[in-house]
Amino acid sequence: VPKRVVIVGGGFAGLATAGALEGAGLEVTLVDQHDYNTFQPLLYQVATAGLNAGDIAYPLRTLVRRYGSTRFRRGTVDAIDFASRKVQFEDGGAVEYDYLVLASGATTSYFGVPGAEEHCHAIYTLDDALGVRARIFSQLERASALGPTPAGLTIAVIGGGATGVEMAGALAELLTLALSTTYKELDPALARVVLVEQRERLLGAFDEGLARYALRQLKRRRVEVRLGVEVLEVGSEHIVLASSAEGAVDLPCGLVVWAAGVAAGKLASCLDLPMTRGGRIVVDEMLHVANRPEVFVVGDVAAALALRTNSGAGRTSSTGGDAGQAASLLPQLAQPAIQAGEHAGLQILRLRAGQPLEPFVYRDKGTMATIGRRAAIAEVPLWRPRSGASAPSVRLRGTLAWLAWLALHIVTLLGRRNRASVLLNWSWRYVSWRRGPRVIIGG
Ligand SMILES: Cc1cc2nc3c(=O)[nH]c(=O)nc-3n(C[C@H](O)[C@H](O)[C@H](O)COP(=O)(O)OP(=O)(O)OC[C@H]3O[C@@H](n4cnc5c(N)ncnc54)[C@H](O)[C@@H]3O)c2cc1C
Repeated sequence: VPKRVVIVGGGFAGLATAGALEGAGLEVTLVDQHDYNTFQPLLYQVATAGLNAGDIAYPLRTLVRRYGSTRFRRGTVDAIDFASRKVQFEDGGAVEYDYLVLASGATTSYFGVPGAEEHCHAIYTLDDALGVRARIFSQLERASALGPTPAGLTIAVIGGGATGVEMAGALAELLTLALSTTYKELDPALARVVLVEQRERLLGAFDEGLARYALRQLKRRRVEVRLGVEVLEVGSEHIVLASSAEGAVDLPCGLVVWAAGVAAGKLASCLDLPMTRGGRIVVDEMLHVANRPEVFVVGDVAAALALRTNSGAGRTSSTGGDAGQAASLLPQLAQPAIQAGEHAGLQILRLRAGQPLEPFVYRDKGTMATIGRRAAIAEVPLWRPRSGASAPSVRLRGTLAWLAWLALHIVTLLGRRNRASVLLNWSWRYVSWRRGPRVIIGG
């Protein structure tokens, strides 16, 4: 009886599959290039000195220890031999499978904008977030030592989806706080955060009223929001922006954070499987790849074309790639990844039991984004609609939404130590807000 399951990716989707298979008597191998899971929704807080890197990382070996029959293999998968059912690693090793769950996530897409890949900072991994943090503080120190330049204290954030909005809000708060408390020799008026969005509005996945509230909150924090503006080029100390009103404009800036696009990772592109324009692997409604009933693809790397959900877009602004198909694709968010990962696990159990497979049905539990202290937005359906349907939703904004956002993120973090640490960090920051940012070094 086939019993070997290999799960590639220890993110939201892969861990949900492992959880669903727990105790089923299968030999499960969880594979990841890192030996920890990263809680991506709080990466921007690591980048803006709100949290330690260790607060949002959880050791995968600790996790699989709880699951008796699951083992962990650290390694970067660079090929999959579907004919002989073998996952191959960069280090030369291989693992055989009877069932494969591919949950390798996504990475940043720069849509071919000249200079973007070379000069922009993305926030997809802990290393990215720590890199952004180091850059912000070294720019502040440089400005303090040598005097500010027009580029030195300007940070541009590209992409007005939830990730860009959260990042811009947190950066604005960090700079205001840092300059008024810690770098008193620098004039706070010189610090600029510019948020650039190609479309005429922010937060395309949210209700318009909530998006307008987010815009007001960003402006209150002195974020310069440029809507209907395209990025033409990125250089080492400037970006070129274009809009119908102003034409091409050069903006000097010392740091550019790219939060505009998502592409499936490197692995997906070398598997010779059907892909969308944005590089996601096309799956059927069972989450299978065509003609490979033993292979499931879940989470950000999967494009479930057959599915219709009542929430169209993901975290980033849809400026390319699969943007045209966004309404028919599952959004690249934690909940779709968790639900699909769990579904794949349950389908493997059905296959083993000789039962017919069930199509995947995504239930929208709502979306949230935070702009800063005591300012967040949330849209939660009153009931959980099935695919294709839509339900009226409750819309929250302000302190209530912010408290809900804090509570949800603490509850969904992996590990009691991490939850306690984040709770302590946030509480401490709330009461000691006016004392300035803390110095946090390394992970
Ligand atoms: C900055 C940011 C903020 C976000 N905020 C939110 C939010 O507030 N709410 C929300 O719902 N969603 C948010 N998201 C989206 C959410 O994090 C993703 O949708 C979710 O992580 C997808 O889960 P996944 O399991 O498919 O992929 P991931 O969580 O990315 O996991 C993929 C795993 O595969 C591993 N891997 C990749 N390639 C290989 C390989 N070749 N070999 C071995 N291992 C490999 C990676 O190391 C990783 O651990 C955010 C994303 C980002 C980047």
